Parts: sequence; structure tokens; C-alpha cells
Amino acid sequence: MKIADLLMQGRTFSFEFFPPKTDAEQATLVKALRELEPLEPSFVSVTYRGGRSSRQRTHDLVVGMLRTTTLTPMAHLTCVVHSRLELAEILVEFRKAGVENLLALGGDPPPEEEAGMGELKHADELVELARAIGGFSIGVAAHPELHPNSHGDRVADRDHVAAKLELADFAITQFFFRLSDYTGLVDDLAARGMHKPVLPGIMPITNLKAVRRMAELSGCEVPPEVVARLEAAGDDPEAVRREGIALATELCQQLLAAGAPGLHFYTLNRSTATREIYANLGM
Ligand code: FAD
Repeated sequence: MKIADLLMQGRTFSFEFFPPKTDAEQATLVKALRELEPLEPSFVSVTYRGGRSSRQRTHDLVVGMLRTTTLTPMAHLTCVVHSRLELAEILVEFRKAGVENLLALGGDPPPEEEAGMGELKHADELVELARAIGGFSIGVAAHPELHPNSHGDRVADRDHVAAKLELADFAITQFFFRLSDYTGLVDDLAARGMHKPVLPGIMPITNLKAVRRMAELSGCEVPPEVVARLEAAGDDPEAVRREGIALATELCQQLLAAGAPGLHFYTLNRSTATREIYANLGM
């Protein structure tokens, strides 16, 4: 099933996973998938990380999901470490295996030894390549608090997102913690005549230190009011986790009330937080 078609039918609820590198990570992922599959997500997505070695891992996980689960998978693919020809080969392999959904990305900086190997500069070129190959429903990334490389130039950042979304079918956002970050992005795109679905990315905070580190890398802020609520939970990790789930639930409720076309959960290959938020939302 293509995600563009799912979005036309109504809201989507989706989960993101990363491909395991070790047997222990594989076991964690299998457990999470087993526990999350009964929630019947509209689709799941599989990241593409860690340079060229990711090529096979992402492919194998996505194709494995197609063959052995009821899930609709979406493969992530990034520009950074491949030539145009290699990217075309990867896309053709996906299509041959029956993969119909793609998230086309610029990509995080690759390992040092692979830096400078990429031929395409930006995600929009990858969307064009995938369109030329055909058969994909294509998503792109959007950053509510602006991509760090935009250096605060909101107009240029939003112009680039609107232009690549014009070529794609939908966008998924980087995680964020305030409703206004999401509505600001959607309003900026609407002001440019862009009304395609923008799925908000949800990262439940279960450990403040870890999320602060991830936020720093992705150029977003953990707002002071969120930090204050987590700090009020004290030193008890379970109390902090509970408050993090409550905060994520509130954000999801606000997003749905504001008309978001779905919710995309960053699971980090764990199921508990996502299942708790689902239950809190009455789903
Ligand atoms: P781009 O669209 O290429 O944008 C990058 C920067 O270039 C922005 O500042 C933009 O304003 C600017 N820009 C864009 N187009 C142009 C243009 N034509 N001319 C000049 N400037 C331009 N990373 C991974 O490595 N693997 C993953 O699996 C992965 N999954 C992700 C999933 C989601 C939902 C999100 C939000 C991010 C994900 N990322 C992943 C991170 C992403 O690859 C990084 O944020 C990356 O730095 C930018 O990706 P992008 O697709 O937004 O790039």
C-alpha cells in the first residue's frame, strides 16, 4: 500500500525503527515489532544510517517486514555516501523487492572515511531520481525548528522544504516539543501554497540527558517548560519517564486537535513508550 493513498483515506499512525547491527539489537527490534504490530500502524519506516554498510541492513529489514509481517514498510535513503548510479541501483532493488514507499533524505554526516562520496547535494535531487525510476510514494524531511545548516534563515529553509515537497507526496518532521513549532511550519508552507500532508514526528522523552543530546545534534531545543516538568519529577527515573509520556501524550492530543494528518513515532526500537501513549490517546 502506498502512503500517499493511506493519507488520502485519513489519518496515519506510524512507527520508525533503525536496522540492528548486533544480535542483541536484533532481539530488541524483534520484540518491539512483535509488541507494536498488534497496534496496526498505518506504516512503519526503517532508517538508513552509518554509511555504506547501511545499504544492505535497511534493504534486508524492509524486505523482511514485507515478507514476514502485516506491516507496510517505508525505506529511508540518503544522498550522502552514494553516487547517482548506486542510488539508482538501490532504488531499483527496492522496487524489485516490492517496496513502494521511500523517505528521500539529505542524510546525516557519514563516517569520516566516507565523507565526500555522495554525488547528490540535496534531498530534492533524490526525490527526482526516485520519481524517474517510478513506482514510489515519496516522503521528505522537514524541520519545524529549521535545519541546523539553515543558520536561522527561516525563509530559505521553508522555501527549500516547500520546493522539495512539491516533488514529493508528504513530509515527516524532525521531533519537536511545542505545538507552535509544528503549526509554524505548516503555516509557512501554506503561505507558499503548499498544503501536502506534514506528519509530526513524536519523540517521547524517557531520559532527559539522552534526549538533550539528540536534540542538540538535530538542531532543536528541549523547551524550558518541558525541562521544568521533567526536573520536578526528581531523581526517580520511573517518575521522569512517566512525566515524559504525559508530555508526549499532551502534544499528540494538541496536534490531533490542530488537524495534523497523523502521528509518526520515533520508537528507538522500543515499544513501551509508544504503547503507553496509544493507550492514553484511547487508540
Ligand atoms: P535537505 O533537504 O537536502 O536539506 C539540508 C539542508 O540544505 C537544509 O538546510 C536545506 O534548507 C538546504 N537545502 C535543501 N535543498 C537545497 C537546495 N536545493 N539548495 C540549497 N540548499 C538546500 N538521516 C540519516 O542519515 N538517515 C535516516 O534514516 C534519517 N531519517 C530521518 C527521518 C526524518 C523524519 C527526519 C526529519 C530526518 C532524518 N534524518 C536521517 C536526518 C536528515 O538526513 C538530516 O537532518 C539531514 O541533515 C538533512 O536531511 P534533509 O532531507 O532535510 O536534507
